[in-house]
Formats: sequence, structure tokens, C-alpha cells
Amino acid sequence: MPILVMKFGGTSVADLGRIANAAEKVKREVERGYDVIVIVSAMSGKTNELVKWVNDTSGFYDAREYDAVVSSGENVTAGLMALRLQEMGISARSWQGWQVPINTTSAHSAARFESIPRDNIDAKFAEGFKVAVVAGFQGVSPEGRITTLGRGGSDTTAVAFAAAFDAERCDIYTDVDGIYTTDPRITSKARKLDKISFEEMLELASLGAKVLQTRSVELAMRYKVRLRVLSSFDETDETSGTLVCDEEEIMESKVVSGVAHSRDEAKITLFTIEDRPGIAAAIFGPLADAGVNVDMIVQNISEKDYDAAHAGAVTDMTFSCPVDQVARAKKAMEEARAEGKIKYDELIIDTDVSKVSVVGIGMRSHAGVAARMFKALSAENINIKVIATSEIKISVLIDRRYMELAVQILHDAFALDSAA
Ligand code: ADP
Ligand code: ASP
Ligand code: MG
Repeated sequence: MPILVMKFGGTSVADLGRIANAAEKVKREVERGYDVIVIVSAMSGKTNELVKWVNDTSGFYDAREYDAVVSSGENVTAGLMALRLQEMGISARSWQGWQVPINTTSAHSAARFESIPRDNIDAKFAEGFKVAVVAGFQGVSPEGRITTLGRGGSDTTAVAFAAAFDAERCDIYTDVDGIYTTDPRITSKARKLDKISFEEMLELASLGAKVLQTRSVELAMRYKVRLRVLSSFDETDETSGTLVCDEEEIMESKVVSGVAHSRDEAKITLFTIEDRPGIAAAIFGPLADAGVNVDMIVQNISEKDYDAAHAGAVTDMTFSCPVDQVARAKKAMEEARAEGKIKYDELIIDTDVSKVSVVGIGMRSHAGVAARMFKALSAENINIKVIATSEIKISVLIDRRYMELAVQILHDAFALDSAA
């Protein structure tokens, strides 16, 4: 039998009614002749609640216990989905990560897949089971402890199963009917795309478009998984949603194809650091050791070439990281300073910034995208604090209160509401 992977996100399994609705979609695919692997998320809001319970219990928690707690939401929905399917006359059973087993590294809360042996689930399909309902987001470490894959990780579970089981397709059912030129919750002008390239989706995801977890797109690209995003709320068929595919399959070619945003960023500046070889390593080494995901980095070429008070050339260093890592970053810098590894006069933290980015593979061959972007932002008096570019994206850090506005005006500036 051909295998299909169907993943249902939090809002798609938010209550028993939604689970029943998702089960209907699964039933339809079984009737079409597929053996189905269903990947479920926790009910919407559940994982956030579990994370809060952990934080309220323990400040610097044991990551293994964090995973034991936050993985549990998916166990509930997997069991409920299997029960609902059974009620509909479909032979289904649930699988927790360790039962498959979904083998991962032991990097708790950010684990990566090592292997997903097919034998156990294949044996059940061979016995006549039609559906395997697998708890997303979780796995088991070499030490036999429960792991999780990072927020939004059920997408990655789905793609990994599609690759491991040579599935015909991996369908990601969610609360929007596809991938849009930007988050449809920010502008009604956002336009649904029929197709998007792996490269562009990878950038959009890593720049904050949470419709797919970044790692899921990486895996789909590597293993050539046919990945589709579609609505669990609407009637759907083979042509619904957005297909993530190779660049060659796409006719439309705009210079910019999407705008992404990441709301909760922070900007940290170290004022008056020594301008000498090794200083960047001395700053970013301790940050990496503290588990801070540094994103953008700017080292000023300042006029402060020589500063008598510091007996040498000095400069300033600015970097960005997620807001919830600021405390760790600050601690790492203060410790490095106390140990004499770095010197700075002042540490300035701005926790009210967001990142807005434009993405498009057309940028490889077109100049002028940055100029157009900066002009559009300046027309609205939005000040750019930090800029970062790559081959197919330009990102800026701006005040958070302008984030929505910036997304809207960039969407307009690049005429993303029209396909031509
Ligand atoms: P699920 O619970 O199904 O995994 P998520 O909330 O993780 O759903 O992802 C879906 C959300 O992603 C949408 O509700 C939408 O607000 C957001 N989103 C951000 N950028 C985009 C985009 N470019 N296209 C579609 N949705 C987007
Ligand atoms: N439930 C997990 C989360 O909220 C995983 C997922 O939904 O993909 O992050
Ligand atoms: Mg998600």
C-alpha cells in the first residue's frame, strides 16, 4: 500500500470536535487506498501551559524533566485520535516516540533524529492496521530518556516519517489554507502561493514564519519529500494548499517572494571594547557556551581609533538574540568581564525590537532590493537598527511597535499581492 503522512497541528486537534474532523480527513485517505501515518501535535495552548508549569516549578530546570513534561501533550492527542478512528471503524493505534522507536540525540529540548526504524509500524500495517497515530515533537535518547525537538517540532516529525517510510506525500494540516507571501494574520493582502521553493521556505521559516519548523524544511529538501501545507478547517483535495518543492517546478519568479517577521528579538551592545584580534572570539565563545543563539552581529568601525583612557584602539559590538535568552547573554558577558576575558564600559540591552525580512531567490540575480526596502521603511520613518543580508534575504532590526507596519509596507513595496 502507498503510505501517506498527515500531520495535524495544535488548532487542528484543539478539542474533541476538531479531532473528529481531522479523523474524517484521515478516513478519506484510508478509503482512497493509503496506509496512513498520522502525526499529531498537542491541543493548542497545551504545550505553552506545560512549559509554564516547568518554569514555575524550577528556574534553572533539569532539561530531561522539561522534556518529560512538555512532551506529554502529544501523548494525549495521539491516544484520542486513535480512539476516534477506532470509533469510525478504522483499525488504528497510537505510538509514543519511544515505542516506534524515534531515536534522537540527547540534546534535550533541541534533539535531532538519529534513526526511525520502520519494523514495528510496518509489522502493524502488515497485520491489517490502516493507521499509525504517532505523537509528534518527541523521541527517545540513547540513554532511554524522553526528548523533544524544539517548538513546532511536530512538523519535523512528520517530514522525518515521510522520508523514513517513503511516503507519497507529507501533508501538514494547519489553521491557514497554505503558505502565504506573509503571515495572513498581519495583512489581508497576503497572497496564498500554489508552490514555494525549499530554499525560500527554509529562509522564511528560519526568519520567523512559524507555519513550518525550519528543520522540517531542511529534511524535506534533503530527502526530496513532497511537502504540502493545507487547511484542516476547509474541504481539501489533491490540489489544495501550497506545495514546497524544487525551484525548477515553479513558474512564478518574483524577485521577492515573501516577507517574514520575528517578534521577540533583543539587541545587545557592548560599548567600548578593545579593537584587537581575538576580541570577537572572546565575546561569542562564552555566549555560545551559555546556549545563546546569536543572530545578527555588527562591529562598528568607529572613529574612536585611539582612546587614551583605554590605552589602545576601541570599538563597539552589537548583536541580536531571542528576548528569552537575554538574561543568559547578560550573565555570560558579565562573567567574562569579571574573569578578565573581555573589557567593556557599558552593556546596553534593548528588548523592544523585532526582525523583519524579505526573501526571494530572484535576489541572486537582481540588484536594488535592499535600496527599495530601505526606501520603503524610511518613507514611514521607521529607523533601521541592524541590517543583515544573505544571497536570498535581507533582514532589518526595528522597534517592535513598527513591526506590523513594516511587514505591510514591504508587502506593498514589492507588490506581493499580485502574482505577476
Ligand atoms: P500548527 O499549530 O498547525 O503547527 P502554527 O501556529 O505553528 O500551526 O503555524 C501556522 C501559523 O503560521 C498561521 O496561523 C500563521 O499565522 C503563521 N504564519 C506565519 N507566516 C506565515 C506564512 N507566510 N504563511 C502562512 N502562515 C504563516
Ligand atoms: N506541541 C509542540 C509545540 O507547541 C510541537 C508542535 O506543535 O509542533 O511546540
Ligand atoms: Mg506549528
